[in-house]
Amino acid sequence: MPNIRVTVWGENLHERSTATVREIYPTGMHQCIADALNAAPGITATTATLEQPSHGLPPGRLDATDVLVWWGHAAHAQVRDDIVDQVCAAVWSGMGAIFLHSAHFSKPFKRLMGTPCNLTWREAGERERLWLTSRSHPIAAGLPDHFELEQEEMYGEPFGIPDPMETVFVSWFQGGEVFRSGVTYKRGAGRVFYFRPGHETYPTYHDANVQKVIVNAVRWARNPAPRIADPGAAPNVPVESALEPITERGPRLHAKGEAGLR
Ligand code: ZN
Repeated sequence: MPNIRVTVWGENLHERSTATVREIYPTGMHQCIADALNAAPGITATTATLEQPSHGLPPGRLDATDVLVWWGHAAHAQVRDDIVDQVCAAVWSGMGAIFLHSAHFSKPFKRLMGTPCNLTWREAGERERLWLTSRSHPIAAGLPDHFELEQEEMYGEPFGIPDPMETVFVSWFQGGEVFRSGVTYKRGAGRVFYFRPGHETYPTYHDANVQKVIVNAVRWARNPAPRIADPGAAPNVPVESALEPITERGPRLHAKGEAGLR
């Protein structure tokens, strides 16, 4: 099977504006994540960032992306709506998507979820303990029943997401909160995974367990089937094309051959 083609999208703002972040991620969080993915067999990862033309996602890039990884925080509002449209359409047509940490408020994640995606939070360098809640899930392969990140931002419930297809991790924080930190969805033909850790002032994406989760999630989210050409198509099937012979009866609103309402 050909390598899984991953595009790691990063906002790349904190890395340039804040010395603490730059010291942890001198080449950017997106590059750190891409490096971890490229070290895994069967995966080829490249990056795209906000400041590039079309945010690094020009025409054709998403078609050549099996799984899109997204990290954003300070500039969600700067992401062009036509790019968001393209990302969502790609997911509906079969592209995998992984949203990390503060991407819970990114435009594509919120649109794909259809809910506020809000949560409680605190930036106090607390210990986070992630517990597996689905031990046989492919995203949890090779991971211990629980693992810790010594310093993380707290995200707490209630998390304003729709009920997940499956919850793979929950997190506990020193302050007492808990959070559904690894959740799966299917949106159209695409698989979606949200993974909580990754606050920019901590070295989270250098952590071996976190990297393993992201590698596993990429493998899980890849859909080897051909993309659906027009995932939003809503064609009319006229009487004469019905699989079984039928006779039209009753009143109708639409004239024959007329396009449907949207
Ligand atoms: Zn954060």
